[in-house]
Amino acid sequence: MSDITRLTAAELAQKLQAGDITSEQATQAHLDRIAAVDPTINAFVTVTAEDALATARDVDERRARGEQLHPLAGVPIAIKDVVVTDGVQTTAGSKMLEGWIPPYDATLVEKIKEARLPILGKTNMDEFAMGSSTEHSAYGNTLNPWDIERIPGGSGGGSAAALAAFEAPLAIGTDTGGSIRQPGAVTGTVGVKPTYGSVSRYGLIAMASSLDQAGPVTRTVLDAALLHELIGGHDPKDSTSLPQPATGYVKAAQEGALGDLTGVRVGIVKELTGEGYQPGVQARFDESVALLRDAGATVVEVSCPSFTTALAAYYLIMPAEASSNLAKFDGMRFGLRVEPTDGPLTAERVMAATRGQGFGDEVKRRIIIGTYALSSGYYDAYYGSAQKVRTLIQRDFTAAFEQADVLVSPTSPTTAFKFGEKLDDPLAMYLNDIATIPANLAGVPGMSLPNGVSDDGMPVGFQILAPISEDARMYRIGAALESALEKQWGEPLINRVPELEAQA
Ligand code: GLN
Repeated sequence: MSDITRLTAAELAQKLQAGDITSEQATQAHLDRIAAVDPTINAFVTVTAEDALATARDVDERRARGEQLHPLAGVPIAIKDVVVTDGVQTTAGSKMLEGWIPPYDATLVEKIKEARLPILGKTNMDEFAMGSSTEHSAYGNTLNPWDIERIPGGSGGGSAAALAAFEAPLAIGTDTGGSIRQPGAVTGTVGVKPTYGSVSRYGLIAMASSLDQAGPVTRTVLDAALLHELIGGHDPKDSTSLPQPATGYVKAAQEGALGDLTGVRVGIVKELTGEGYQPGVQARFDESVALLRDAGATVVEVSCPSFTTALAAYYLIMPAEASSNLAKFDGMRFGLRVEPTDGPLTAERVMAATRGQGFGDEVKRRIIIGTYALSSGYYDAYYGSAQKVRTLIQRDFTAAFEQADVLVSPTSPTTAFKFGEKLDDPLAMYLNDIATIPANLAGVPGMSLPNGVSDDGMPVGFQILAPISEDARMYRIGAALESALEKQWGEPLINRVPELEAQA
């Protein structure tokens, strides 16, 4: 394997700036790695090699001319296939959008292009971002680089696996209920769900608009901060975009890495630990909390009683919004169109045939739940009640953040499970997001970073939650924990991903 693919984005950026390597070399190294391992891992739905190399050569020329460039210029990146890219197929993991070529870029893609990061391609995901294992993709399973018999998490399993397999130094994910953080946890990578509204949703194929948020998928906390500052900030094209700049994350990560957390109050969320959490996950969590204490933090336990109902509220609000957002896939406007082979060719029959064949089982299940929850007579009982629970969860966060600067928990109750293990049991699959969902319901930012391996040898994630618009806090605490852990391990955990040949 080329050493270039082992570098973090920050290291790569530094070498590019110093002229030690060119962007073309860096991009080619990652494309070679994709060619070597992706036939097995299947992290990518589409690889855009020519475009990536063209951007890379352009960056190299500009740098040679002495042009002032963005710090990440020339560092390759992969993008989850739910984010629209001008001229490049965008499927959202669904047959419904196979071959659909968007005529515009999402705002975050525009920013990536303006900063001149070569885009390697589009990553695999559960259909329309519904799932926790990427097994619901219409484009095949993505394999977990730590153990190819296990899932890479979901819905953004492709972006996380691309990072863990060293196919990309940076990636973009989206998180509606945990789809950046849970894949991060089960692949030993870093994932950040920013404050709701702080990264533009313009050009994201919507799942649940009041919960969706795009964010960085990386191998280090500092890399996440660098990418977050690039993609964040106000966007007039997104009506829920916050009017504030995305700054201070890199500085916070650098400060945190110094390791002094004196005066920081860390709150353990009682409802998100203990029973139901795999022993190895709980043990690593307890050890990480001890490290935060050693770094000078004060640790308190906080209670958020409404969190026990978060999953139930989420599985009403999310399907309700999704059922409405997905109504546009009707065979009339864009994407798949299926005409019934017998009987009259009415609009209604074309819609039924298209939706019947274009959507997978999980998507249909959620459209049915959502439509039911919104139907007259049931609206107050289901959707209305779920919205009230959502308010209670927000209040629990407000109260907890009076006692603590950040809240912490394991990211996911288990490590990566085996393919097929939860496929026939949707509720078991849903439970994997028990710790990540409250943040989406309240709009607060959340980060997952790797904090060791469980007894099964699989990586475990540590979650840090901060108040709205206080994303910098999680970068500070995350970087402090990351540096304490790496001192213990003697190297980054991700270096322990076994080579594919060893798993044959
Ligand atoms: N796994 C959760 C779900 O299936 C979260 C999905 C997401 O964040 N996109 O809804």
